Amino acid sequence: MQIGERIVKWFQTHGRDLDWRESQDPYHIWVSEIIFQQTRIKQGAEYFYRFMDRFPNVFELAKADQDEVLKYWEGLGYYSRARNLHFTAKYVVQELDGKFPEDYQSLMKLKGIGPYTARAIGSFAFGNQVGVLDGNVLRVVSRLTGDFSPINDLKARKVYQATVDHWVQPVSSRWFNYGMMDLGASVCTPTRPGCLICPVQETCIAYREGLIPHLPQKKKTLVRKVRYFNFLLVRDSSGSIAIRKRPDKVFWGGLWEIPNVEISQNDWMDVSCPPGGEKGIKLKHVFTHFDMMIRVCLMERKDFEGSAECEFITSDKIRNFAFSRAVLKIFEAYFGTDEVKGS
Ligand code: SF4
Repeated sequence: MQIGERIVKWFQTHGRDLDWRESQDPYHIWVSEIIFQQTRIKQGAEYFYRFMDRFPNVFELAKADQDEVLKYWEGLGYYSRARNLHFTAKYVVQELDGKFPEDYQSLMKLKGIGPYTARAIGSFAFGNQVGVLDGNVLRVVSRLTGDFSPINDLKARKVYQATVDHWVQPVSSRWFNYGMMDLGASVCTPTRPGCLICPVQETCIAYREGLIPHLPQKKKTLVRKVRYFNFLLVRDSSGSIAIRKRPDKVFWGGLWEIPNVEISQNDWMDVSCPPGGEKGIKLKHVFTHFDMMIRVCLMERKDFEGSAECEFITSDKIRNFAFSRAVLKIFEAYFGTDEVKGS
């Protein structure tokens, strides 16, 4: 039996039972792939169901206001993905009569859809005979083929892609790709893989040659960058808080925030708040590409020069706006979780 057939056979009895996979609607697949690319299944499922309840099809998403879409995305991170979802939904409705294109090249033309998502939609919705490479699948392929090429290297990715594209040919791409993902997630795990119950153990080079602890390989990435910020919790005499909206084309684009400014590491260490500011809590927020060190400065409106560009809201209105996770952490520290999320 070939690898593709073994994977499909295994998937049919051992695959994960994830009910959003039952749909072959490209809209459902698109939203689920974007959400689950960035989060664990349990947390992502909550977001997915809430999102689908509110925006059950591409027409509803296209009609929505961006602020509302971001509110449904709040806390997930990667907010440009939510903005791109919204943009592309409008494009699909206005330019394509609400129908998603089926082929890889046309899917790739849609904003926010890259090679992974285009292949996933193509395979899961339209049965295109292409392999889908996520982190789990890359680990399986690297071990099965005994390939030491770094899985985060673009050239090597092409070779890994060609391998799964070849394996998928004789079988249903949908079942094969789900099977590879699930094998990586539940059997061929990063540490202590379950080789004894693995359906492709006979053909696995890493298993045969004792290479499992060394695969997959990754190229070393640069030292993480650290950036330092003062976040200003500005209140007026009635206790309302200053918030403002971020422009679209920056990180956290389109979200609301409290005023903040990037400062040097030394200023941050020296507890340097703007004049009139009083030092508050410190916290760290981790992005994929840098660490954000946050110091909160408490200020009164009369001492804050940027008041004119802000709206002032009472703390019970926080839940009506979409904020980044970092800002929500600040609100939770000062106003309590119930006030921020609703009890
Ligand atoms: Fe992974 Fe082990 Fe299966 Fe090889 S035999 S693919 S290392 S689980």
